[in-house]
Amino acid sequence: MNKIRILPDNLANQIAAGEVVERPASVIKELVENSIDAGAKRIGVDVELGGRRLMRISDDGHGMVRDDAILAFERHATSKISSLDDLTAIGTLGFRGEALASIASVAKVELITKVEDGLAATRVLIEGGRLIDVKDAARGTGTTISVRDLFFNTPARRKFMRSEATENYHLASIVTHYALAHPEIAFALTNNGREVLRVSPAKDLRERSFQIFGGQLIESLLPVTGGREYVARVSGFISAPRERRTNRDSQYFFVNNRFVRDKTIAGGLLEGYRSVLPHGVYPVAFLFLDVPLEEIDVNVHPAKTEIRFRRNEAVKDVIAEAIREGLAKAGIVGEKAEVTEPAAAPLELQQGSPPPEQSRIEFSSQQDEGQSPALEWGGASVGLPNSESAVTGVLISATGEVAVESSGQNGGFALRTADSEESDADKPGDFATAFEQAAVQTSQLLPIVEKESSQDPAGYVVLPPVNSAAHLAKSAELDRVSGGSIRPMGQLHDSFIIAVDDEGLLLIDQHVAHERILFDKFRRKETDRSVESQNLLLPETVDLTPAQSQSYEIVEDELSSIGFGLMRLSGRTVAIKSIPTDLPASEVRNLFAEILDNIDLEKRGSGKSTLRDDIAASLACKAAIKINMKLTPEKMHWLIDRLLTTSSPTTCPHGRPVILRLSMKDIERGFHRT
Ligand code: ADP
Ligand code: MG
Repeated sequence: MNKIRILPDNLANQIAAGEVVERPASVIKELVENSIDAGAKRIGVDVELGGRRLMRISDDGHGMVRDDAILAFERHATSKISSLDDLTAIGTLGFRGEALASIASVAKVELITKVEDGLAATRVLIEGGRLIDVKDAARGTGTTISVRDLFFNTPARRKFMRSEATENYHLASIVTHYALAHPEIAFALTNNGREVLRVSPAKDLRERSFQIFGGQLIESLLPVTGGREYVARVSGFISAPRERRTNRDSQYFFVNNRFVRDKTIAGGLLEGYRSVLPHGVYPVAFLFLDVPLEEIDVNVHPAKTEIRFRRNEAVKDVIAEAIREGLAKAGIVGEKAEVTEPAAAPLELQQGSPPPEQSRIEFSSQQDEGQSPALEWGGASVGLPNSESAVTGVLISATGEVAVESSGQNGGFALRTADSEESDADKPGDFATAFEQAAVQTSQLLPIVEKESSQDPAGYVVLPPVNSAAHLAKSAELDRVSGGSIRPMGQLHDSFIIAVDDEGLLLIDQHVAHERILFDKFRRKETDRSVESQNLLLPETVDLTPAQSQSYEIVEDELSSIGFGLMRLSGRTVAIKSIPTDLPASEVRNLFAEILDNIDLEKRGSGKSTLRDDIAASLACKAAIKINMKLTPEKMHWLIDRLLTTSSPTTCPHGRPVILRLSMKDIERGFHRT
């Protein structure tokens, strides 16, 4: 008996819906794209219950005749392409003919549509993929699609829907994206009857951004224009380095007016900011790429938010170049040469093509200067001079990530990987990880260093690297650090306090130490209700994005309870009248963006005070003293004393170590005294 059979259409559609309809926001995305493709000048979106109960989109586009209105729900039914050739040059947002079929297979859908010279409108009703009814209706030219009870027939998928608040955030965010991509179209979004966004037709992106984000952000943005004709034309706006985000939510990328999430573009953007922004920090950006249709493949993923560039690297370079030019015009970076220097350094080394051993000797002699690789690994924010990038180049080659004899291009790439933002060790202040990693690197090199040390060409005695003791330093255990006996001696790189006690040597990360102190304080305040806050001389006003204003409603009370005095003004503007005492006023804006963009709304109502903890942790991080900051001896004493009274002096609120210890025993062992 044969086992293979063809799936019924409806089942196939439901399976396809798994890719197309990930969540309510993906329905909105597909329907808004259809309206744009239909030439709409006005698009209205209404949602109820986070899109679960209802999503309705109305447009004034060209509409459909009755036959098309029925056909539109068939799988692979599209008016946008007709041959394979069309696929190589897609000028519309849709083309797969899958969206309506997929959506209708997992929801109850009503379509009302009319073409300009039609006598009446058509109303089509489909539930779970079954055509229920077709009849005449009344409406002007255009289309209205209502999607009710999403996933009503696929309980397993329904369970995966997140909270209403989370879905609202995504819904607002997707409509914002399309509103930015199409300034010429009027958009309105209401949520449970309340207006979230309303914008009239604008003449360009700048005016549209102003409508959506308000004047504050826009004034701080720098224009970008550039690119190359056959690769990509780049335009848009990017933020000055003082405007910072801790994730990519404020980066909007569009390729031929299609909203995309794309690593190549994100990579080019970050590359352009290299040496301007520390790691783990992201700029705000609105980037529009105009790419010749034959240079991209948009048919990579059913949701069409991913695309493929024929010449990835070229696109990335073109973007980085345009960003650098934009920053240079604003006087933020100097000449191009300065920015590209780090990548060029390992190239020089390789051009001399020294045999591997030699380059290692060179490395070890650099190494004896101090702990540079460890610090380099710890992130650019430690502020090492550029010259050390050469060391990193060799360090990487020596550990086998990139062979020394590999091409120069690879060397440059390796450097970038070493400090790419994905690595945890790159977060400023993550000293322990850096320390450990460096220890691993060094211990691999050690045997060679010892063997070669007598042959040093310059005739110097090559010392074993100082951080050969690195793997001995441990994150301090709580019961081994005792109050009064810790004596600060000074600072290392203005970032770490060097201290001694009876047990040996201690290194304290000043930023995370202060973070721990403040975190405990903010949490205590919440329970005591003894809020200390300072009035601002002038209230600070913050314009929220539509998505942020959805989160704001949820965190407003929590923010008040830790010392913010807030007042919602008209629309999406919030006035901040007072702030917690420890927070520098200059950090307020960034903190707000961080909390509203990152907070996990799922945690709300989960009984535990996890949402508060997250807010307290963000606040503590922004208010804490930074690394690269000189401290007086009194301040160091204060910091240590206070740290020891906290609930957990040895780990920060994010779980990183605060104190590293090198015990007397290990020091003595290191000097062969035992
Ligand atoms: P695709 O957009 O990939 O063609 P869809 O399933 O999204 O596939 O839509 C199928 C077809 O229905 C479209 O090709 C278009 O002809 C028609 N259609 C969908 N939405 C609208 C709309 N809002 N206005 C006019 N026509 C529409
Ligand atoms: Mg479509």
